[in-house]
Amino acid sequence: MRWTQTLIPTLKETPAEAEIVSHKLLLRAGLIRKLTGGLYTFLPLGLRTLRKVERIVREEMDRAGALELLMPALQPPEIWQKSGRYEAARDVLFKVRDRAKKEWVLGPTHEEVVTSLVAGEISSYRQMPKNFYQIQTKFRDEIRPRFGLMRAKEFIMKDAYSFDATDEGAQASYRKMYDAYARIFQRCGLKAIAVEADTGVMGGKFSHEFMVPAETGENEVVYCDGCGYAANVEKASSAAGKPGPAVEAVDVIERFPTPGVVTIEALTRDPYGVPAERQIKTLVYLADSKPVLVLIRGDDQLNEAKLVGVLGTGNFRPAEEAEIVAALGARPGSLGAVGVTNLPIYADERLTGLSGMTTGANQDGFHVRNVSLARDIQVTHWAELRLVAAGEPCARCGQELKVRRAIEVGHVFKLGTKYSEALQALFLDESGKQQPAVMGCYGIGVTRTLQAVIEQSHDDQGIVWPVSVAPYTVCITPLSVAPGSEVLKLAEKIYDDLITRGVDVILDDRNERPGVKFKDSELVGFPIRVGIGEKSLAKGEVEIKPRAGALQPVKADDAVTKVLELIAAGL
Ligand SMILES: [Zn+2]
Repeated sequence: MRWTQTLIPTLKETPAEAEIVSHKLLLRAGLIRKLTGGLYTFLPLGLRTLRKVERIVREEMDRAGALELLMPALQPPEIWQKSGRYEAARDVLFKVRDRAKKEWVLGPTHEEVVTSLVAGEISSYRQMPKNFYQIQTKFRDEIRPRFGLMRAKEFIMKDAYSFDATDEGAQASYRKMYDAYARIFQRCGLKAIAVEADTGVMGGKFSHEFMVPAETGENEVVYCDGCGYAANVEKASSAAGKPGPAVEAVDVIERFPTPGVVTIEALTRDPYGVPAERQIKTLVYLADSKPVLVLIRGDDQLNEAKLVGVLGTGNFRPAEEAEIVAALGARPGSLGAVGVTNLPIYADERLTGLSGMTTGANQDGFHVRNVSLARDIQVTHWAELRLVAAGEPCARCGQELKVRRAIEVGHVFKLGTKYSEALQALFLDESGKQQPAVMGCYGIGVTRTLQAVIEQSHDDQGIVWPVSVAPYTVCITPLSVAPGSEVLKLAEKIYDDLITRGVDVILDDRNERPGVKFKDSELVGFPIRVGIGEKSLAKGEVEIKPRAGALQPVKADDAVTKVLELIAAGL
């Protein structure tokens, strides 16, 4: 490709809309343009990179035995009602109406569609295992689209769905996808780590996320250098969260006035001096419109993802003040669970057996002390509900846990039979008995992966593409483009030779100053630049510059060989 014939609208200034470096570089290097918030056009260079990521994904999915198909983006809401997700996913579902005012759903994912397909096509254990995948545009009703392709309303996903006759088979299918994902991200040049993940609204049995460590990531990963444990913070546990030994209650419960005290922190100060770890925090949530109490230690934070898992419904929210007063008779700041018998009480395991605790008295301006969890509060459900923090001991090996931010690029779920039961994907097993297929589902954010590569691989000058997904591998930069000049002739010869050898190459034939050409080539991040100027050519040389390496003078006749060597060596 010749630069003047394509469209590479590089920008000197950073557009104000871009908050993170990868988003800035996508715009500045002329890879994408915004149509409106959360919607982007892929320009020629951006599309070339996208296609390369897709090709890697496709090759590895095919190699793992998955079958490509293409399902409709537009889906009938009835299948979402059948699976029970129409309500649970209402915050992200894009809904449209046709001329008859019938409602449709633009798919954010395809469990319902693929399971309906399998229900009609697979009827015997002999037809399994099967794994179907597609690379397709997905939609998400994102309230706050941000960070370019990271959180968009429309994006490209690879989604795959495995169907097995047995649990062991499903386990093997899961492992295959896990391994394929590790290869895909490695081939894209990404350092991704697999972490244990929460299954959330998907309702699966267990899952892993593939995370790219990055300061700008929207996820937090808890990890241990001692034993390799790694988990999304929503899923993570630590030894600090385990219940301690029970302490017998000796003192009588006592009510005391706390005028104006409405925070844990205020109660730690004089004249009260109750340390946060000796307080019980009482939160009120509405789950399926009914109030529930949630108790955690005063110095802990609630992990909402774990609460969702325990409640078994995604339809929940914090109660508003009026709802809290209706449930407990007091306003936030004076809430407690002592003596409450008419509401479900979910308590964090760390509170188990504790005595001498202080909590709200369910009367504005009053607290109670000497509270014993075992004696004074009728906990209906004990569960791990707290958020793990950095510095806590690892539950496996005791070493200090660390927390870092990361970008989620892939997710594998072992789903079980939730969808196959709901949508009747049944088969006859060896003994002729009807069973629901055991499912797994596996997603890769293709457009997000592309941006994650930039987030992880750039410098002050611009993007540093790995060869595998670079829009072009080589950029030839003649410093003179005068027709018939020796410089241009040699540039065209090297260009033709590289194309003949199957190398993706672009020739910067613009009549621009060398500085402009070099800057643009660094900004876009082509892995190899071949510079040809009159001075070096007088010595019979050209200059080869790997994007992240040093400039090397090379005999003009050896230029093509040298470029091929660099590519073969991975630069
Ligand atoms: Zn550990």
